[in-house]
Amino acid sequence: MLNVPSQSFPAPSSQQRVASGGRSKVPLKQGRSLMDWIRLTKSGKDLTGLKGRLIEVTEEELKKHNKKDDCWICIRGLVYNVSPYMEYHPGGEDELMKAAGSDGTDLFDQVHRWVNYESMLKECLVGRMAIKPAVPKDYREEKKVVNGMLPKSQVTDALAKEGPRSPSYDWFQTDSLVTIVIYTKQKDINLDSVIVDHQDDSFRAEIIIKDYSYIIHLGLSHEIQEDLSVRVVENVGKIEIVLKKKENTSWKRLGHPLENHDSLVPKKGLHYRKCQLISKEGVTHDTKLFCLMLPPSTHLQVPIGQHVYLKLPITGTEIVKPYTPVSDFLLSEVKEPVILNNKYIYFLIKIYPAGLFTPELDHLQIGDFVSVSNPEGNFKISQFQELEDLILLAAGTGFTPMVKILTYALTNIPSLRKVKLMFFNKTEDDIIWRSQLEKLAFKDKRFDVEFVVSAPTSEWNGKRGHISPALLSEFLKRSLDKSKVLVCICGPTPFTEQGIRLLHDLNFSKDEIHSFTA
Ligand code: FAD
Ligand code: NAP
Repeated sequence: MLNVPSQSFPAPSSQQRVASGGRSKVPLKQGRSLMDWIRLTKSGKDLTGLKGRLIEVTEEELKKHNKKDDCWICIRGLVYNVSPYMEYHPGGEDELMKAAGSDGTDLFDQVHRWVNYESMLKECLVGRMAIKPAVPKDYREEKKVVNGMLPKSQVTDALAKEGPRSPSYDWFQTDSLVTIVIYTKQKDINLDSVIVDHQDDSFRAEIIIKDYSYIIHLGLSHEIQEDLSVRVVENVGKIEIVLKKKENTSWKRLGHPLENHDSLVPKKGLHYRKCQLISKEGVTHDTKLFCLMLPPSTHLQVPIGQHVYLKLPITGTEIVKPYTPVSDFLLSEVKEPVILNNKYIYFLIKIYPAGLFTPELDHLQIGDFVSVSNPEGNFKISQFQELEDLILLAAGTGFTPMVKILTYALTNIPSLRKVKLMFFNKTEDDIIWRSQLEKLAFKDKRFDVEFVVSAPTSEWNGKRGHISPALLSEFLKRSLDKSKVLVCICGPTPFTEQGIRLLHDLNFSKDEIHSFTA
């Protein structure tokens, strides 16, 4: 695994070169990969220049450290000396310098809030900010607060302008149950919007409301059993979380408040829980289907089109990478759709022999644990409303978001006339779930699949090449002249970017295209 190839990294066509939203990644110098950084942090070298001391940093002091060779940045109240990391930063030195000598929390959250900086930069930790700035007057200023948390009243004000109101909660009990009731005051709440965890005596419920989270976070006053259940009354936005008491005694109080309890905060950071590896099956020569089981005390559903982050310790540093859960619908003969046992999450993952994360994941044994984050992503089910034509363009493991989309559309969208998948791969052997897709196309006349191979063998008599106007123009024809269409595209970043350009050239509007990026 540590045997990293010597070519320039990221490789010219690699997704590692350009991240989403046009955020360019710079080619890193030889010996400056993530693995090289991990090695440096383990070398015992004093990376802060403080010989292991942690200090309290004032704003004045922070401001002084604003040069490349002396660059301190504050993230969520912790100050890091990032100078040693400059050459290893995939986004380049200039990006880091934007936050030099200041609070980089907002910038960090905008660009890659999922990155596990606490672990990656732990050897660069200088200390904590000595004092918080005074509470600012308005929301814009508030965003500069070091910890990034908005007091409830201000969030309520900010949200009130946009429509939604701040939730509240209550609780009641019977002999054997405790029910926490959350009044979200939102109509569009469903089971996907609710994430509940009970780990190590801490109970945490997060209700996703647009870009905000309403948090209930408590140290419960009494013990509860492992399994809990969640109900949502959608039309009134009421959520009930039912906990089973361990002993049938009367609780005088629910518990003591923990961080962010009963507050509405901008969505930030990621919450993880440990999931057990249940099975691992080969799908192609380099892709495997991993099944992970959520803890019984977790309620989490990954919405269609969204991904999660998996986290593993690799040589002592916690590494996170995004993956898109799939349903096993295509595997289990085309039958009862969608709602599977919600305790299992399936992933189709390609193992890159010289990759950092996937070989480690592949080495896990059945019964081992891997941490799984809350879901992320901007795909909205409302994009399916009145949809008539759904076109899916996928390359390699870019197929993964298409699995749930395809399944959901075929079973839940009455207006749907046609679903077409064009699936690009290097060779025939790389095609994931080929026979299942062919079988589905045979059974459901609304679904067509076209495989395109860029490095075919002489036996291949299907389509060949890369994404191009010649391949797309015929394929993208609508089933009716003005039918409502959605094109979803996912694959290596350059593939996706080229596809979007071609779609625009073929007069598809922005609203008719959904691209999957990080
Ligand atoms: P990396 O270490 O990132 O390496 C990737 C490639 O670069 C390999 O070919 C490796 O050989 C090469 N490489 C690494 N280091 C060097 C170097 N120094 N020099 C030259 N070459 C090098 N993937 C899936 O399989 N399934 C999914 O469901 C999935 N969902 C995703 C969802 C999102 C939103 C995104 C953004 C990505 C998704 N991915 C998915 C991709 C996934 O996140 C990882 O990028 C992928 O698994 C590779 O991780 P890795 O650490 O093993 O490889
Ligand atoms: P791959 O096997 O390397 O490539 C799949 C196909 O895409 C091949 O035919 C390949 O052709 C072609 N391709 C590669 N680069 C291209 C480009 N610049 N222009 C046109 N075609 C190109 O793919 P993979 O290893 O499975 O990687 C899948 C990618 O999808 C990863 O980058 C992953 O991060 C991304 N992904 C993203 C999400 C998301 O939600 N954002 C989800 C899953 C996966 P060649 O013969 O030239 O290689």
